[in-house]
This record gives sequence, structure tokens and C-alpha cells, in this order.
Amino acid sequence: MFKEINVSQKSSLLRYQEIFDNKPNSLFFIKIVLIVTLFYSPKLFPFSSVTGYIKHDNLDIHAQITDKGLEPFHFTNISFRNIMAGNVSHDFYPNLINKAELHCDRNRGVTHRDIAQKCKRAAYAFLKRASTYIKEGKVFKGLHFFGKSLHIFQDFVSHSNLVDLDKKDRVLSLNFILNRAEPPPNSLKFTGWDGRANKGEKAGLLIGDMYPHDLNAKDKPNGNNECKRKLKSYKNKTKYEASFQEAVRITTEVAKMFNHDVKKKKSFN
Ligand SMILES: [Zn+2]
Repeated sequence: MFKEINVSQKSSLLRYQEIFDNKPNSLFFIKIVLIVTLFYSPKLFPFSSVTGYIKHDNLDIHAQITDKGLEPFHFTNISFRNIMAGNVSHDFYPNLINKAELHCDRNRGVTHRDIAQKCKRAAYAFLKRASTYIKEGKVFKGLHFFGKSLHIFQDFVSHSNLVDLDKKDRVLSLNFILNRAEPPPNSLKFTGWDGRANKGEKAGLLIGDMYPHDLNAKDKPNGNNECKRKLKSYKNKTKYEASFQEAVRITTEVAKMFNHDVKKKKSFN
């Protein structure tokens, strides 16, 4: 038997109904907040620069390279942001900035050959971790580590003399970084950079270094004179533009490798 609803119960039900009827209004408010957060967040929160909002900044160049290099894979916007968050984390957090192998930079006393191997090992270690996460269904984490791996592959170009090498050694260098078994050619050099610089010394301009980062890195259009110098071997492109082009090429090749590795299990874009 149903209980008869008394008057006070009735009125509370009515109140509930009223609140429910009012819901579209609060939903409307939530929608406004969501729109503002989604579309204007980079302007409201500069921290969103990790997605490449700040122009003329090095973080943005990694985003441009990654965007172009991953074009054939049609990543969704959210996946791309995930990849970029991993990618630029190396240039964002002090403990990662100081890890030379995450940027293919050569610490004091380290040989070009040693940093070549160290940087390659770090890049493939992240790639392996990324693919393991994807295979386990942890796509979010996997894309983050894929981005971390790409950062190293991209810095391999701009923090070395790759674009200056003759064709034969350039091919050898590309084979080295894209093929686990190949050794690097002797002519391949990496920029000197050490976070533990002495007093009066800059991390990218170590005293006595023959190939310092600040004078030889090709990671900004006008970073130094080297960036602006033109190369006949690259149809008169500047060294920065040539490095950008090679970094895009390597990004695509690494993504192909990665795709090949994970595609039997799960989609990663
Ligand atoms: Zn870097």
C-alpha cells in the first residue's frame, strides 16, 4: 500500500522539482566556464605554454617540429598535447634541463662519441617505455613518454653538427640515430653544455670547449651566428632551417618505428 503524501512532503518534492527545472541555468553557467577555460586558457594561464602558446620560445619550436613530423599520423588535439607535454618537459623542469643526454648536449670531459651513444640510449629507452605503456592500454602515459623520446631525437639535430657534415657522414649519422646497430661517424660533434659550470662560466660557454652550445646550437632562428649562416647543401637554407627540416624528418621516422611497434596491439593516435 502506498503511503499518502502529506502536505509538507509535497512541498519539498515541489521544491526539488523547481531546483531540477532550474538546472539548465546552472548548466548554462558551467558551459560558459568550460568555453572560457578551453578556448581562452592559454591567455588566462601562461602555464599552458607547454602546449606551445608562447611564440618565439624554444618550447614552441619543438611543438612546430613535432606538429609537422607527426602530420601523417593524424593525432587528435588532446593526444598531440600529451605528446608535447612530455616533449617540452625536458626544457621546463630544472632537473631535466640539467640532464645533458636528454638534449644531446655534451658535459665537460665527455667525448662526442660517448654523448652520441648516451643520448641515443636515452631516446630509445623512452621510446620503449612509451610502447610498453601503450601495449598495456595506458595510452595517456605512453604518449607522454613518446614525446619525451622525440625531444631527444629532435635535439640530436640542433645540438650537433649534423647539417654541416658532408653527405656521406650525414647519412651515417642519420643511420646511427635511426638504427640501433649503427655506430656514429667520427666527424659527428655535439655542443658542450654543463649545468655544473664554474663561477664566471656559462653552462653553454664552458672555458676551453671547442664546440660550445651557445655558439653552435641551431635551435632558434636567430640564436647565434651559426643559426643564420646559409648552407649550399640545403638549397641556401639557414642552418636553423636545415636543422628544423632534419628534425621533422627524424620525428616522422621515429613515429613510423613507434607505430610499427605498437600497431598490432592498440591504436596510439
Ligand atoms: Zn632540449
